[in-house]
Amino acid sequence: MSPPASTKVDLLIVGAGPAGLALANWFRGANIKVLIVDKKPGPTPRGQAEGLKSTTNEIFDSYGIGPQVTAESWRLEEIACWGTRKDGGEGIVREQVIPDKVAELGKPRETMLQQSRVEHHMLHNILSHDNIEIRYSTAPISVDVDTSCVHETDTFPVSVSLEKVTTNTNTTNGDTTNGTNCHATNGHHINGQNGHQPDEHDAPSDKISAKYIVGCDGARSWLRKQLDVSLEGDLTDSVFGVVDMVPKSNFPDIRRVCYLRAASGTILLVPRSNKEVRMYIPVESGTALPDPKDLTFDRVMDAARKIIAPYTMEVGSVSWWSAYRVRQRVGNHFSRLNERAFLVGDAVHTHSPKAGQGMNTSIQDAYNLGWKLRLTLKGKVRSSGARQDLLRTYESERRPVALDLIAFDKGFLKLFAAPSAQFDTEILQALKFTTGLSIRYPPSCAVQLPKGIEQLGPSLLKADLVPGKRLPDFRVVYQADGVPTWMHKRLSATGQFRVMIFAGDISDSTTSKRLHEVGKYLGESKSLKHVVMPQSEQEPLVEVLVVHCAERDLVDFLALPEVYRPWSDESGYDFWRVFADVESVHDGHGRAYERLEIDRQVGCTVVVRPDGYIGAVLEVDDVECVERYFEGMNV
Ligand code: FAD
Repeated sequence: MSPPASTKVDLLIVGAGPAGLALANWFRGANIKVLIVDKKPGPTPRGQAEGLKSTTNEIFDSYGIGPQVTAESWRLEEIACWGTRKDGGEGIVREQVIPDKVAELGKPRETMLQQSRVEHHMLHNILSHDNIEIRYSTAPISVDVDTSCVHETDTFPVSVSLEKVTTNTNTTNGDTTNGTNCHATNGHHINGQNGHQPDEHDAPSDKISAKYIVGCDGARSWLRKQLDVSLEGDLTDSVFGVVDMVPKSNFPDIRRVCYLRAASGTILLVPRSNKEVRMYIPVESGTALPDPKDLTFDRVMDAARKIIAPYTMEVGSVSWWSAYRVRQRVGNHFSRLNERAFLVGDAVHTHSPKAGQGMNTSIQDAYNLGWKLRLTLKGKVRSSGARQDLLRTYESERRPVALDLIAFDKGFLKLFAAPSAQFDTEILQALKFTTGLSIRYPPSCAVQLPKGIEQLGPSLLKADLVPGKRLPDFRVVYQADGVPTWMHKRLSATGQFRVMIFAGDISDSTTSKRLHEVGKYLGESKSLKHVVMPQSEQEPLVEVLVVHCAERDLVDFLALPEVYRPWSDESGYDFWRVFADVESVHDGHGRAYERLEIDRQVGCTVVVRPDGYIGAVLEVDDVECVERYFEGMNV
């Protein structure tokens, strides 16, 4: 009998943790064949990560699972800082309670949900899509990339052999932990979209040919080794115990996020659901650094009790504990082989879990790469050079983020080791950093500074409305029905760009005329028509949206140019492209223009990439620059 032919897939993802599942979510409903393999026997039973940053929650909104994730999450509202007594007495005192808030966000900075539940929502979001298959208990054993055809479109240069993994694989995250309670599941296999188990006759082939391969296989990444990518950085001298338990304690702030600074160390305490708290506890042993493998639960708890004294801390039920020595390392490459192979998440960066960044950064890496692969695999980018330019931006955008994160982590660990008098201010600054608001991607085909950023008008480039940064979220109401929405909730992950026209007060005849002219031009432009108003496709690659600040009654929706309210024979007008920055019936006024510092008369046009980052900021009627942006992308 001849050996089975290889199965052809567009994309092979190794690893179904937060990064792999987040990546796969980009391909829901797309005509792109995706295979995910994971060596563990089924979905992650628990996982260590917990904190979800607001920007990660925006990603879940764009995947349509925001409401489910939010409903299950625990909100963090306050931070209490405790320190040693100033009168020289023993023990700790509460110094202050600060709101856990980053004003620019306008919504909760962080929520808590266990990793397994986060993965559950992402997994169930892809299972009903026939084009995505997930195979558990499966790992790659060899990978070959035919470099002679990596430049050609529609080739399958990646050949991978898979094998069945029969042992129950533990699911510890990364090589930093010495976990005890991470048990594997009892074979909850999902082989294919319906969770059916293949019998001998439909057993999937173990030879895969793929156009692209992505390693989302965690800190001990197999693919990283095959691609000869090395991690730069090293072990730190910080050893921590981490404990998830129900505390029996008379410490008054046990249900707040707490930084407890005592002479013997600093505990970070984070409330969780189910009456549990998580504690990160530094463990020292004289001058020598303890080996995490030698640490016992009792020793970790003794260290905790010493810090929290005179308050008491007895142990209720313990759902998990571990000890680890922090590694801070970043891969020297995030993509290889002419952008046919990529590494995402813990596979290319590890750091301390204290700032709750690992799962968030991994999901955000995947989110950054996913739309670029989607556009490429759907053939939206026309030349192979442009495709590679776009895919290259994954490394040029995300590696600096990982490096910044490591630099931040070093400072954060120092802050814990030797808290300064400005500890509280420093913590607040750190929280701002961890929201990701400071990320700014460098200029590229996807982040264009058409006129040179410094030459843009003074009304532009205020606040955070800057090319390369995430579009700040804001609340507006739909022109058609007054229903309020946060803009990122509206920007679902369809792979579409949005040209967002902040048209100003269009009850004014000059401003209104300008909006009409822009709409007419965009709808008729030779170079844009095929992406803005396609004849044959349901969904245009570029959606044109209008955010005005006139009174709604003064705007005649149907009189607007067609590009702002296209008509389809199946569903009539598209009412969901025009928004007003006005008072809503129940949720107040979002004050979007004010938040974004956009002049109500001058306005501006913002090109928003499929991942919600800003591709360009332009004068409101600079339609030629809009054309140039998409010509630069070669779509
Ligand atoms: P992983 O979660 O490691 O997933 C990798 C997947 O690949 C696994 O499913 C694995 O089975 C699979 N795999 C591995 N090798 C192979 C192979 N050869 N073949 C097939 N499959 C393979 N992050 C936060 O954001 N917030 C937090 O609060 C937080 N707390 C943490 C607390 C602790 C104690 C620790 C250790 C980490 C914490 N993190 C936190 C970090 C977070 O857990 C990781 O950064 C995150 O899980 C990384 O996701 P990933 O998908 O890149 O890798």
